[in-house]
Amino acid sequence: RRGIPAVTAVRNLKDYCSNGDLLIVDGRNGVVISKPDAEQESAYRKLQREFVDLKGQLAENRDSPARTADGVELEISANINGLDDIVASRAMGASGVGLYRTEYLFLTHPSVPNEEEQLNDYRRIIADAPGKRVIIRTLDLGGDKTIPFLGHDREANPFMGWRSIRLSFEHPKLFLEQLRAVLRAAASPEAAGVDVRLLFPMITTIEEIRKIRTMLRKAASQLKAAKQTYRNVPIGLMLEVPAAAVTIESLARDVDFVSIGSNDLVQYLMAADRDNPKVSHLCEPLSPPVLRVLAHVIQVCRRMKKPVCLCGEMAGLPRAFVLLLGMGLRWFSMSPALVPTIKDLASHVTLAEAEQIVREALALKTTAKVRSLLSAKLAELAPNLALLEAAD
Ligand code: PEP
Ligand code: MG
Repeated sequence: RRGIPAVTAVRNLKDYCSNGDLLIVDGRNGVVISKPDAEQESAYRKLQREFVDLKGQLAENRDSPARTADGVELEISANINGLDDIVASRAMGASGVGLYRTEYLFLTHPSVPNEEEQLNDYRRIIADAPGKRVIIRTLDLGGDKTIPFLGHDREANPFMGWRSIRLSFEHPKLFLEQLRAVLRAAASPEAAGVDVRLLFPMITTIEEIRKIRTMLRKAASQLKAAKQTYRNVPIGLMLEVPAAAVTIESLARDVDFVSIGSNDLVQYLMAADRDNPKVSHLCEPLSPPVLRVLAHVIQVCRRMKKPVCLCGEMAGLPRAFVLLLGMGLRWFSMSPALVPTIKDLASHVTLAEAEQIVREALALKTTAKVRSLLSAKLAELAPNLALLEAAD
């Protein structure tokens, strides 16, 4: 998230190294080399220098607009977990905040932040955010993120259980507090000229959207009764559950925008826990079933003229970006550190090229074939970025 190389799920690392040993962490390829020999060390030091130079050069595009080689305007915004990430998103040239994960405010608080504390936090985020749009996502707890104050029981299947919007509905007082804090922040002086929006995670049914609208009306009438200033804001659903992808046409009618949470969508579609290394080979955003679902959702939203964003990690993967662009996506949100790379890549690709790549990719039957097609295309379109890509 901060541009720090990382490799996860390395088993028995301590059997291979001890304190003070030199380690090489190659986050592109998921490789850790313990106690490298002189040749490995000098090869990686050279690579590191080239990598840092390239990242530095790319970050110089922070003030230029995001557009394709043939001039199609894109929105490349940042995913943030709190105020700390705002600095990075400005420095990297993000065009706005596409996803503020408010659960981190709760996870770092000694108990539960009250309405005033939330209001202050949202105002500061809005005041410092780059660009003119801030999307605030309501509490997305449960799954891998639990806090004791909400009375979380151990569940057999936490990702399929009591999480996200399901949990907010069960804590109406807390949910209303969060809604009121956002509506008030949207009317604060900092928010003048800023498009503040609310985003709801893990939407599965249309009834949930109706319930959200009821809660929003209630939050607004409570604020009115208390003579607080507030502003009603556009609302969006996070498309993360396959059921919502299948019914996107009817769900999208009831919201102002859609944001595809591909991290969760991929795990639910493939029935493979995103945090379990034993099944990580299935959690593959470039797999044929995932591509079909994404193409469908983007196409339906475009036909309905419903703004659609993708805010999962794949938005910042060069190979996936080209495909999403070709499928019709124009709004991407990603870790701040990835914004310069994607902006640069966009400037090397025309829409016609991206659309042709989608046609070819959708005809392939395996993830391996999709990946190698995309590697070959990227090497042609943006050879300057080859250093950032994993070897296949
Ligand atoms: C997602 O699921 O793609 C997403 C952006 O949300 P999170 O990673 O916070 O679950
Ligand atoms: Mg998610």
